[in-house]
Amino acid sequence: MARILNGKALSKNIEEELKVKVQNVKRELGWVPKLATILVGNNPASQTYVRMKVKACERVGLKSEQYCLDENSTTEEVLCLINKLNKSKKVCGILLQHPVPRQVNEEACFKAISLEKDVDGVNPNSFGSVACTKKGFACATALGMIKILEYYKINVEGKHAVVVGRSNIVGKPMAMLLLNKNATVTICHSKTKNLEKIVKKADIVVGAVGKPNFIKAEWLKKGVVLLDAGYNPGNIGDIDMENAKLKARAYTPVPGGVGPMTIAMLMTQTVESAMK
Ligand code: NAP
Repeated sequence: MARILNGKALSKNIEEELKVKVQNVKRELGWVPKLATILVGNNPASQTYVRMKVKACERVGLKSEQYCLDENSTTEEVLCLINKLNKSKKVCGILLQHPVPRQVNEEACFKAISLEKDVDGVNPNSFGSVACTKKGFACATALGMIKILEYYKINVEGKHAVVVGRSNIVGKPMAMLLLNKNATVTICHSKTKNLEKIVKKADIVVGAVGKPNFIKAEWLKKGVVLLDAGYNPGNIGDIDMENAKLKARAYTPVPGGVGPMTIAMLMTQTVESAMK
């Protein structure tokens, strides 16, 4: 039977360790480090994600400062807030919740977050730094998946990893982190030809497509490791796990897999930022 890669349990362990670190940091600094969250607009899913991140801050002992900007906000308004937070001494991390309304240039906003406070790893310069020097803050979701692999001692060196999805905030960073760990990586996207054949060759499959149950059991090799970053309405991942897990050696469930680890990595990187 396939092993469940329990991101929820692992995230709880990580939070317990973080609580101690936060206490030490508070004592040393004499103040409580903060994560600033920025939510632009009224997307209910985004509101939920931000709430979950705020609650995680409370659990580990960090402060959070929440900014809810109007649906009609402009890029300049978001940039203005980010610049203010970049300068704020007690703000150690800045999270701009994705996606922002269409009129806001998300890329420019991500790029404006100072690298020292980019605890969600969304600034393209953080990506470049992680890719080239293995330093800097990594994309929280991708890092969460890597930590799951490490915790469960799943060696990726020399393995063929197929990442389905190439977004700047999940697919590409995950591919890069796997490459840094010496996997042989194939990145697939909507224009990829013969997707099923490529996935069939994979030892590790990462689902980062944003389409419910998109990756089918028939596409998979027996003994594959499945990492499902997907989170679609109704708690449905991007891999048809109900059937796919019968072929897998190990898999992340949805919910309780990658999602909680994303938040744990956000907290981890905020604490690292405070320690620096
Ligand atoms: P995204 O920006 O919409 O990117 C989706 C990617 O999938 C794109 O690269 C797209 O290709 C590719 N794709 C779409 N249709 C495809 C097809 N038919 N065949 C192959 N590739 C296809 O999504 P995202 O932000 O990366 O998110 C991916 C998933 O992760 C979503 O389910 C999201 O909810 C989830 N997510 C979870 C967390 C978490 O904390 N667990 C965090 C962030 C995201 P093109 O580039 O060619 O368009």
